[in-house]
Amino acid sequence: MRLLVYLWSLPNTLLAITIGLLLMGRFQLVDGVVEIHGRRVAAVLRRLPVPASAMTLGHAVFGQTLDTLQITRRHERVHVRQYERWGPFFVPAYVLISLILYARGRDGYRENPFEIEAYAVDDPSQRV
Ligand SMILES: [Zn+2]
Repeated sequence: MRLLVYLWSLPNTLLAITIGLLLMGRFQLVDGVVEIHGRRVAAVLRRLPVPASAMTLGHAVFGQTLDTLQITRRHERVHVRQYERWGPFFVPAYVLISLILYARGRDGYRENPFEIEAYAVDDPSQRV
């Protein structure tokens, strides 16, 4: 079963690893998830439409620093589980819901059900 969820997420995970290599990020494996951080990774995360401390892509998580990877780990692991459920449909579903929310004048990030689920596990003192 674990193999199947890794395969289901593999296209996104491989994309993340490729991006991490291109950005010359530093890699570590934590509980079956590849974590990638570094100066160029941080620069890209800061320039996203919604600037992020961390971002999940399949079984990989980009973080600005080792500290942000640790602080955001519980939140980002929820996204890993979401990728395990949605596989290649996660990104299109996430983006579509965000666009619909923005089109209705709502917050496409904070009101996105994928984020609501992830923020629900966060320790409020560590929210990023
Ligand atoms: Zn999130």
